[in-house]
Amino acid sequence: MLRLAIQKSGRLSEDSLKLIRECGISFITSSLKLKTESTNFPLEILYLRDDDIPGYVADGVADIGIVGENVLVEEGMQHLAVEQLGFSKCRLSLAVPKGDPYEDISDLQGKNIATSYPKLLQAYLDEKGVQANIHTISGSVEIAPSIGLAEAICDIVSSGSTLISNGLREVERVFKSQAVLIANGGLNAEKQEILNKLLFRIHAVQRAQKAKYILLNAPNEKIAEISQLLPGAKSPSILPLAEEGWSSLHSVVNEDDFWEIIEKLKEAGAQGILVVPIEKMII
Ligand code: ATP
Ligand code: MG
Repeated sequence: MLRLAIQKSGRLSEDSLKLIRECGISFITSSLKLKTESTNFPLEILYLRDDDIPGYVADGVADIGIVGENVLVEEGMQHLAVEQLGFSKCRLSLAVPKGDPYEDISDLQGKNIATSYPKLLQAYLDEKGVQANIHTISGSVEIAPSIGLAEAICDIVSSGSTLISNGLREVERVFKSQAVLIANGGLNAEKQEILNKLLFRIHAVQRAQKAKYILLNAPNEKIAEISQLLPGAKSPSILPLAEEGWSSLHSVVNEDDFWEIIEKLKEAGAQGILVVPIEKMII
């Protein structure tokens, strides 16, 4: 049995649970429980505060965990990272009050900066050769300038709307983060094997997220031209339609590429184009 630690409630929780479910791993959740066991995979899930997850994994209380890179690196535990997971993307940024005449990082020399990420901030200031006074606070960082605690803040940003609603302006990007899978370095062979199975499933889910299945109809004389436009997993499947002289082409395309080729497909004579999601993809 492998023990996975995820955030109990917060910005990582929902997507962490979704990823595990998409891997075909079933379990019953209850807001009151602190752990659950999967009914169809040798996995136990522990629900914890996100800050505690790297420490528990390092100590072996949990075997693996899902946490933000910002927390992992702040706690000096980056050696536990196994793989980036592509969700909970955010950045750690420096921000100043909207009316502040900030021009560059040297303007922060000697200033007071409030943050919950003192180590990441210190590393950034050191790299830029700036000395400032870091005030570590555990929450509500964005109100620090308005209550006179600091002239600048360094906090997590995704859309930037929290900064704007607090009259702040983002001026420097200190660190880019996303959710990451972490693992204890000393897993026994049995646990390592379960982790490998889990990673195999995670990869299949991740690959499928970017890929779309595309179906389209084309006159037979255009098949060669259209096939060129479809990069596909291999080459497209071609099936004859009931209507004489027409075929149906099926292929897999990357979502980003799809928008690039759609006009070209239409110009080449493709009709009835369908793009459908893929649930799992094993190559
Ligand atoms: P806990 O109670 O577990 O300590 P928390 O308040 O410290 O929770 P959350 O605000 O839930 O943490 O954020 C957890 C993680 O989600 C952050 O460390 C960061 O990696 C990521 N995150 C935070 N804010 C955002 C956001 N706006 N968009 C996307 N990801 C975010
Ligand atoms: Mg936390």
